[in-house]
Amino acid sequence: MTNARRFHAICPAVLVILLVLPSASHAWNAAGHRQIAALAWEVMTPTTRRQAVALLRQHPDYPRWRKRQQENDPDYGIFLEASIWADEIRGDRRFYGGRDAPTPRLPCFPDMQRHGDWHYRDPGGGEIDSRLARFAHDLAHGARAEKIYALPWLLHLVGDIHQPLHTGGRNDRGGNQFYVRVPAAKRKKPQTLHGYWDDLPGPSGQRGAALKSRADFLRRLPSPSSAEAVGDIRRWYDESRTLIAREVYPPRRDATLDANFHRRAQHHADLRLRAAGARLGRWLNYLL
Ligand SMILES: [Zn+2]
Repeated sequence: MTNARRFHAICPAVLVILLVLPSASHAWNAAGHRQIAALAWEVMTPTTRRQAVALLRQHPDYPRWRKRQQENDPDYGIFLEASIWADEIRGDRRFYGGRDAPTPRLPCFPDMQRHGDWHYRDPGGGEIDSRLARFAHDLAHGARAEKIYALPWLLHLVGDIHQPLHTGGRNDRGGNQFYVRVPAAKRKKPQTLHGYWDDLPGPSGQRGAALKSRADFLRRLPSPSSAEAVGDIRRWYDESRTLIAREVYPPRRDATLDANFHRRAQHHADLRLRAAGARLGRWLNYLL
């Protein structure tokens, strides 16, 4: 095989790895996003709730959310489910990513891309902050179809920007190349620091009573001041960056996390979920 041909044979494998790596960063697991949505719902006025639900009912995936939700109040249940839609489309064949051929467009959608790079921004790329600004604008001033598309994205990305590792890391793809060992975890193998933080909210299938008791716990934590500016994306981003510098990383790579580190990490994750929920609710009251 000539060098040139060998390069072509290797290249697709390299490409696959490059395409797979960024999707390793999912942000808070589904439980985290539902907890944030649950806290936001409490803050939302009856008018905001009504308007949010009216938009979600017109979304092409409303029937799926309706089927999956397990709350007594279905409006509340679909609001929770819509907050994880942006992660679910990563594995959904109606959507496409990278260099795949485009898939047929659904009503209300500008395109069918998965937009994995909208979930973060680090020195290597990502658009979370500019997307949040855009979706907020669309929710307040856009055409009906733009609002329908924007709402699930906004519900999700307010959560993601509060996950510190979605704003960078230490040259390790937001902690996706930094491995730790978690003593109490079911898996014995080391896991990524990013995955460890994503799972701090609890089991991702959490709904109903378990979700309610987590939300009750989070609600008792200190919340951001109500004097704070609404929709201050820059502040949320900077707070996450500060946490990366101070709290997110254990002292050593490949180390087993000690109980003290785990306690602090859990506390910081809980405060971020608390803040994201309060801020999301206030922002929606302002935008809708
Ligand atoms: Zn995400």
